[in-house]
Amino acid sequence: MYDIIVIGAGPAGLTAALYALRANKKVLIFEKNTYGGQIINAGVIENYPGVKDITGFDFATNLYEQVTALGGEVKIEEVTRIDKDKNVFTKDSEYKAKSIIIATGVQRRKLNLANEDRLVGSGVSYCAICDGGFYKNKVVAVNGGGNTAIEDALYLSGVARKVYLIHRRENFRAEEKYVDELKNKDNVEFVLNSTITSINGNEKLESIDVITNGETRNIAIDGLFIAIGQEPSNEAFEGVIELENGYIKSIDGVHTNVDGIYVAGDTRVKDLRQLTTAVGDGALAASTAIKEG
Ligand code: NAP
Repeated sequence: MYDIIVIGAGPAGLTAALYALRANKKVLIFEKNTYGGQIINAGVIENYPGVKDITGFDFATNLYEQVTALGGEVKIEEVTRIDKDKNVFTKDSEYKAKSIIIATGVQRRKLNLANEDRLVGSGVSYCAICDGGFYKNKVVAVNGGGNTAIEDALYLSGVARKVYLIHRRENFRAEEKYVDELKNKDNVEFVLNSTITSINGNEKLESIDVITNGETRNIAIDGLFIAIGQEPSNEAFEGVIELENGYIKSIDGVHTNVDGIYVAGDTRVKDLRQLTTAVGDGALAASTAIKEG
């Protein structure tokens, strides 16, 4: 029996674990992929108070090491189901805790086009920092108009021979500072008011079809980086935890509809999904669980 099971090893989950461990609680953390959540893919973080700049990788690694050094137990297993009695099920095992903190974050949104899944690792990627190095002197495209897409395109412009930035509108969600920086790059072509309609290739990605104002153009590329936002993945909690458009509903930002089950970070219904708000949620969820446990 654990005091607290944390589901998700991103900034919210790891911060919750940190607070619980410092209160001498027995903590188990589940993660289905690797620690760090979305922030591990961020180039440089410049908006975390008190830290002038730090890479996403370093931030996530520091936090992970801080938690494991305190005795936090991490299992790389996907949680498939929980129940109201605080039992946590994975494919092969079952665990029990006094409290559960759900901090499953968000995942990169897909275009949901044919060949997209099949060509992941063969030209299609959701992480420029992870996979960009494979495209030295090659031609790549980035899809999206938010901070992630613009940062990805900036990073790739220093690696690839040419970068197409494809965005469905004329205006960007990304900060102007980053967009202006990208506009000054000689090897970046903006393809605006445009939507990708087809991803083409057999063994590996060869090209994409892009429609602009009703006209379709085929663009030969070696790599496609999809950066069109994020969405939650809370199917494991359906029927137990109240969801709204896939995000977890919270009363006062931390309690779910079930006693002893809490939520923290990007996966809950909230207005601002940032590193700062994720770690704040993690701290509050853990201290509430400790108080009420
Ligand atoms: P985002 O801000 O939600 O932007 C998603 C982009 O993808 C938007 O431009 C959107 O277009 C486009 N899009 C959405 N669905 C699409 C579809 N089906 N087909 C084509 N385009 C689609 O997501 P994000 O860039 O991943 O950023 C997520 C959050 O992390 C934001 O709050 C962001 O500020 C933050 N972030 C911050 C930093 C930093 O501070 N350095 C770095 C990265 C991310 P529309 O604009 O037309 O809707």
